[in-house]
Amino acid sequence: MRADTLARARTLDRPDLAYLVRFPSADGMRDMDLTRAELARDTDWVAERLRAHGLAAGQRALLTASGFEGFWGHSVIGALRALNVPYGIAEAMGWDHRRTSVFHRELTPHAVIGLSEQTLEGLAGTADLGEMFRPTRVVLARPSAIPVLRAVGVSACVISAVGPALALECPERTGAHINAAAWRIGERDGRLTVAAGEERTSPLAETPLAVAGRVVTGRCACGSEDPRVLLAQAN
Ligand SMILES: [Zn+2]
Repeated sequence: MRADTLARARTLDRPDLAYLVRFPSADGMRDMDLTRAELARDTDWVAERLRAHGLAAGQRALLTASGFEGFWGHSVIGALRALNVPYGIAEAMGWDHRRTSVFHRELTPHAVIGLSEQTLEGLAGTADLGEMFRPTRVVLARPSAIPVLRAVGVSACVISAVGPALALECPERTGAHINAAAWRIGERDGRLTVAAGEERTSPLAETPLAVAGRVVTGRCACGSEDPRVLLAQAN
Protein backbone atom coordinates (compact mmCIF):
# COMPACT_ATOMS: atom_id res chain seq x y z
CA MET A 1 0.00 0.00 0.00
CA ARG A 2 2.73 2.43 1.07
CA ALA A 3 4.91 1.41 -1.91
CA ASP A 4 1.92 2.03 -4.23
CA THR A 5 1.37 5.47 -2.72
CA LEU A 6 5.03 6.42 -3.09
CA ALA A 7 5.13 5.13 -6.66
CA ARG A 8 2.10 7.26 -7.51
CA ALA A 9 3.55 10.30 -5.73
CA ARG A 10 6.64 10.07 -7.92
CA THR A 11 4.54 10.48 -11.04
CA LEU A 12 2.99 13.73 -9.78
CA ASP A 13 4.27 17.06 -11.01
CA ARG A 14 6.63 18.72 -8.55
CA PRO A 15 5.65 22.35 -8.14
CA ASP A 16 8.44 24.66 -9.24
CA LEU A 17 7.76 27.05 -6.36
CA ALA A 18 10.09 26.31 -3.42
CA TYR A 19 9.29 29.25 -1.13
CA LEU A 20 7.13 32.29 -0.86
CA VAL A 21 9.59 34.84 0.49
CA ARG A 22 8.07 37.49 2.72
CA PHE A 23 10.37 40.42 3.41
CA PRO A 24 10.06 43.92 4.88
CA SER A 25 10.23 46.74 2.31
CA ALA A 26 10.19 50.47 3.04
CA ASP A 27 6.40 50.39 2.50
CA GLY A 28 5.50 47.26 4.46
CA MET A 29 5.76 43.52 3.90
CA ARG A 30 6.25 42.20 0.36
CA ASP A 31 6.06 38.71 -1.14
CA MET A 32 8.22 37.19 -3.81
CA ASP A 33 8.36 33.71 -5.32
CA LEU A 34 11.48 31.57 -5.04
CA THR A 35 11.62 28.69 -7.51
CA ARG A 36 13.63 25.49 -7.12
CA ALA A 37 15.88 26.53 -10.00
CA GLU A 38 16.56 29.89 -8.32
CA LEU A 39 17.26 28.15 -5.02
CA ALA A 40 19.73 25.82 -6.74
CA ARG A 41 21.59 28.81 -8.26
CA ASP A 42 21.58 30.59 -4.88
CA THR A 43 23.07 27.45 -3.34
CA ASP A 44 25.87 27.37 -5.92
CA TRP A 45 26.63 31.03 -5.23
CA VAL A 46 26.75 30.51 -1.44
CA ALA A 47 29.00 27.46 -1.88
CA GLU A 48 31.43 29.59 -3.89
CA ARG A 49 31.40 32.29 -1.20
CA LEU A 50 31.97 29.76 1.61
CA ARG A 51 34.80 28.16 -0.37
CA ALA A 52 36.41 31.62 -0.48
CA HIS A 53 36.32 31.53 3.33
CA GLY A 54 38.32 28.32 3.21
CA LEU A 55 35.48 25.95 4.02
CA ALA A 56 36.33 22.45 2.84
CA ALA A 57 35.45 18.81 3.37
CA GLY A 58 36.15 17.49 6.83
CA GLN A 59 35.60 20.79 8.63
CA ARG A 60 32.47 21.42 10.67
CA ALA A 61 30.07 24.36 10.78
CA LEU A 62 27.38 25.76 13.02
CA LEU A 63 24.44 27.59 11.44
CA THR A 64 22.17 29.77 13.53
CA ALA A 65 19.00 30.71 11.68
CA SER A 66 15.25 30.90 12.21
CA GLY A 67 12.63 28.87 10.39
CA PHE A 68 11.24 31.90 8.56
CA GLU A 69 14.72 32.52 7.13
CA GLY A 70 14.55 29.29 5.12
CA PHE A 71 14.78 31.22 1.85
CA TRP A 72 18.48 31.81 2.53
CA GLY A 73 19.04 29.19 5.26
CA HIS A 74 18.21 26.49 2.75
CA SER A 75 20.86 27.70 0.30
CA VAL A 76 23.47 27.81 3.11
CA ILE A 77 22.56 24.25 4.17
CA GLY A 78 22.73 23.11 0.53
CA ALA A 79 26.14 24.79 0.16
CA LEU A 80 27.51 23.09 3.31
CA ARG A 81 26.29 19.73 1.98
CA ALA A 82 27.90 20.41 -1.40
CA LEU A 83 31.18 21.20 0.37
CA ASN A 84 30.91 18.06 2.55
CA VAL A 85 30.95 20.17 5.70
CA PRO A 86 28.85 18.58 8.49
CA TYR A 87 26.82 21.18 10.37
CA GLY A 88 24.67 21.71 13.42
CA ILE A 89 21.74 24.13 13.45
CA ALA A 90 20.61 26.32 16.33
CA GLU A 91 17.76 28.81 16.31
CA ALA A 92 18.97 32.42 16.01
CA MET A 93 16.46 33.70 18.59
CA GLY A 94 17.98 34.51 21.98
CA TRP A 95 16.15 31.73 23.85
CA ASP A 96 18.12 29.05 21.99
CA HIS A 97 21.60 30.40 22.84
CA ARG A 98 22.37 27.27 24.91
CA ARG A 99 22.12 25.11 21.81
CA THR A 100 24.67 27.40 20.11
CA SER A 101 26.90 27.03 23.17
CA VAL A 102 26.65 23.20 23.19
CA PHE A 103 27.22 22.85 19.43
CA HIS A 104 30.13 25.27 19.58
CA ARG A 105 31.76 23.22 22.35
CA GLU A 106 31.04 19.81 20.80
CA LEU A 107 31.69 20.60 17.13
CA THR A 108 34.56 23.09 17.47
CA PRO A 109 33.31 24.45 14.14
CA HIS A 110 35.59 25.99 11.52
CA ALA A 111 32.73 28.38 10.75
CA VAL A 112 29.83 29.83 12.69
CA ILE A 113 27.27 31.22 10.26
CA GLY A 114 24.42 33.59 11.09
CA LEU A 115 25.34 34.61 14.62
CA SER A 116 22.76 37.08 15.95
CA GLU A 117 22.94 39.86 18.52
CA GLN A 118 20.21 38.03 20.49
CA THR A 119 22.28 34.83 20.66
CA LEU A 120 25.30 36.86 21.82
CA GLU A 121 23.21 38.55 24.52
CA GLY A 122 22.10 35.14 25.76
CA LEU A 123 25.62 33.72 25.70
CA ALA A 124 27.13 36.76 27.44
CA GLY A 125 25.41 35.71 30.68
CA THR A 126 27.42 32.49 30.94
CA ALA A 127 30.39 32.77 28.60
CA ASP A 128 33.24 35.07 27.62
CA LEU A 129 32.30 35.91 24.03
CA GLY A 130 35.88 36.76 23.07
CA GLU A 131 37.29 33.49 24.42
CA MET A 132 34.49 31.60 22.73
CA PHE A 133 34.73 33.04 19.21
CA ARG A 134 38.31 34.29 18.79
CA PRO A 135 39.52 30.72 18.04
CA THR A 136 36.71 30.18 15.47
CA ARG A 137 38.30 30.63 12.04
CA VAL A 138 35.25 32.03 10.23
CA VAL A 139 32.51 33.98 11.99
CA LEU A 140 29.71 35.20 9.73
CA ALA A 141 27.45 37.37 11.85
CA ARG A 142 24.36 39.49 11.37
CA PRO A 143 24.99 43.27 11.11
CA SER A 144 23.92 44.16 14.67
CA ALA A 145 26.17 41.40 16.09
CA ILE A 146 29.29 42.73 14.33
CA PRO A 147 30.03 45.65 16.73
CA VAL A 148 29.43 43.36 19.76
CA LEU A 149 31.96 40.86 18.40
CA ARG A 150 34.45 43.54 17.39
CA ALA A 151 34.36 44.93 20.96
CA VAL A 152 35.70 41.60 22.25
CA GLY A 153 38.34 41.21 19.54
CA VAL A 154 36.47 38.91 17.15
CA SER A 155 36.76 39.98 13.51
CA ALA A 156 33.51 38.75 12.02
CA CYS A 157 32.23 39.07 8.45
CA VAL A 158 28.66 40.12 7.63
CA ILE A 159 25.88 37.79 6.58
CA SER A 160 22.51 39.43 6.14
CA ALA A 161 19.24 39.20 4.31
CA VAL A 162 18.78 42.36 2.21
CA GLY A 163 15.11 42.12 1.35
CA PRO A 164 14.80 38.77 -0.49
CA ALA A 165 18.54 38.69 -1.28
CA LEU A 166 21.43 37.33 0.75
CA ALA A 167 24.52 39.45 1.35
CA LEU A 168 27.69 37.62 2.34
CA GLU A 169 30.99 39.30 3.09
CA CYS A 170 34.28 37.81 1.84
CA PRO A 171 37.49 37.59 3.89
CA GLU A 172 38.52 41.05 2.57
CA ARG A 173 35.79 42.53 4.80
CA THR A 174 35.09 45.44 2.50
CA GLY A 175 31.32 44.99 2.30
CA ALA A 176 28.91 42.08 1.90
CA HIS A 177 28.65 40.67 -1.63
CA ILE A 178 25.28 40.24 -3.36
CA ASN A 179 24.94 37.91 -6.36
CA ALA A 180 24.86 40.28 -9.35
CA ALA A 181 23.27 37.66 -11.62
CA ALA A 182 20.31 37.28 -9.29
CA TRP A 183 19.79 40.83 -8.03
CA ARG A 184 20.09 44.47 -8.97
CA ILE A 185 21.01 46.29 -5.80
CA GLY A 186 20.93 50.07 -5.58
CA GLU A 187 20.81 52.90 -3.12
CA ARG A 188 18.58 55.91 -2.87
CA ASP A 189 18.89 58.59 -0.18
CA GLY A 190 21.09 56.38 1.96
CA ARG A 191 18.79 53.36 1.79
CA LEU A 192 19.09 50.23 -0.30
CA THR A 193 16.79 49.15 -3.14
CA VAL A 194 16.51 45.70 -4.68
CA ALA A 195 15.10 44.28 -7.92
CA ALA A 196 15.19 40.89 -9.61
CA GLY A 197 18.31 40.44 -11.74
CA GLU A 198 18.79 38.77 -15.12
CA GLU A 199 18.94 35.25 -13.76
CA ARG A 200 15.79 35.58 -11.65
CA THR A 201 12.60 34.36 -13.29
CA SER A 202 10.43 35.42 -10.34
CA PRO A 203 9.55 39.07 -10.91
CA LEU A 204 10.48 41.89 -8.53
CA ALA A 205 10.43 45.51 -9.67
CA GLU A 206 12.80 47.95 -7.96
CA THR A 207 11.73 47.93 -4.31
CA PRO A 208 12.97 50.42 -1.71
CA LEU A 209 14.07 48.76 1.53
CA ALA A 210 14.20 50.20 5.04
CA VAL A 211 17.89 49.19 5.17
CA ALA A 212 20.42 51.99 5.62
CA GLY A 213 23.56 51.40 3.64
CA ARG A 214 25.73 52.05 0.60
CA VAL A 215 26.55 50.05 -2.51
CA VAL A 216 30.12 49.58 -3.72
CA THR A 217 30.70 48.34 -7.26
CA GLY A 218 33.84 47.24 -9.07
CA ARG A 219 36.11 44.26 -8.63
CA CYS A 220 36.78 43.28 -5.02
CA ALA A 221 40.27 42.24 -3.90
CA CYS A 222 38.84 38.71 -3.51
CA GLY A 223 38.34 38.61 -7.29
CA SER A 224 34.54 38.82 -7.26
CA GLU A 225 32.72 41.32 -9.47
CA ASP A 226 29.57 41.06 -7.34
CA PRO A 227 28.59 44.41 -5.81
CA ARG A 228 29.01 44.92 -2.08
CA VAL A 229 26.72 46.54 0.45
CA LEU A 230 28.03 48.47 3.43
CA LEU A 231 25.27 48.17 6.01
CA ALA A 232 25.04 51.04 8.51
CA GLN A 233 24.02 48.64 11.28
CA ALA A 234 27.27 46.68 10.99
CA ASN A 235 29.45 49.75 11.67
ZN1 LIG B 1 35.20 40.24 -1.94
